[in-house]
Amino acid sequence: LTGTVVAVQANFYQVQLDGDRGELDTSTLLCTRRTRLKKIGLSVMVGDRVVVEEPDWTGNRGAIADVLPRSSQLDRPAIANVNQILLVFAAADPPLEPYQLSRFLVKAESTGLDVVLCLNKSDLVSHAEQEDIKERLSLWGYQPTFISVYNSLNTDILLNRLQNKTTVLAGASGVGKSSLINKLIPNINLRVGEVSGKLGKGRHTTRHVELFELPNGGLLADTPGFNQPDLNCSPSELAYYFPEARLKLATGNCRFGDCLHRDEPLCVVRGDWERYEHYLVFLEESVSRQAHL
Ligand code: GDP
Ligand code: ZN
Repeated sequence: LTGTVVAVQANFYQVQLDGDRGELDTSTLLCTRRTRLKKIGLSVMVGDRVVVEEPDWTGNRGAIADVLPRSSQLDRPAIANVNQILLVFAAADPPLEPYQLSRFLVKAESTGLDVVLCLNKSDLVSHAEQEDIKERLSLWGYQPTFISVYNSLNTDILLNRLQNKTTVLAGASGVGKSSLINKLIPNINLRVGEVSGKLGKGRHTTRHVELFELPNGGLLADTPGFNQPDLNCSPSELAYYFPEARLKLATGNCRFGDCLHRDEPLCVVRGDWERYEHYLVFLEESVSRQAHL
């Protein structure tokens, strides 16, 4: 039997089994980990693909006998085999804040995974405003999907993009992430909060990670709400996390291999692109963090 670990509680692992198990068996087993795995230091994390032995169909128990190699591993939240990051922001209320959005985008890009950008609450902005936002974000290298949880606008399109993938949801608090999860996964009932910017209150006071099963296949993990993710990447890699700068680096070379694109001569990255200012701010952060290491 094979399956995916969808939650970890103490020394128990909830494993969702592969395939359609019909009406006879349940699709999830509460599993322990074989001591052999413990001995060889093989950890089991949420998202892991595992081999399960000795299923007990009456008690819905089993034992994890092996962990398959991971295709990716995120640290915060700690999840294996993630395919993409779904970044949700609001088109309004709270207002779209370019630096904050950039920070989340750079953080998401630094995982190396695909980034899907959605702007919720499009019911609150005019078509003209949406076009302005679209134009601006296309300069950043992104094609956002405008959604509205309230009006069910484009939520089906989004569901298709999540199908058969493991996706991590991220975004500032108050943008509608809990509302979106409630919409995509009926009868899950997460608590919806107020727009107040209060940190870690109301929802997700725990750091518990869980993968939720999507109705048409795929898994979705929520991340605890945070407003200012730390960009712990090195100064030299930062430019690669801006698609528009990545493009410049793909088509030309700076004079110096270790160019940080500040004031070095013959730099192909420095220039009049909109987010260059953001780049410089994040670069200073990154440089001073390295100085403190
Ligand atoms: P989270 O902090 O990202 O999980 O955001 P919540 O799901 O708690 O939602 C924050 C607020 O935004 C709540 O008052 C929701 O009712 C509201 N909200 C969520 N989706 C929409 C939407 O599509 N349109 C509008 N106008 N408000 C929304
Ligand atoms: Zn340069």
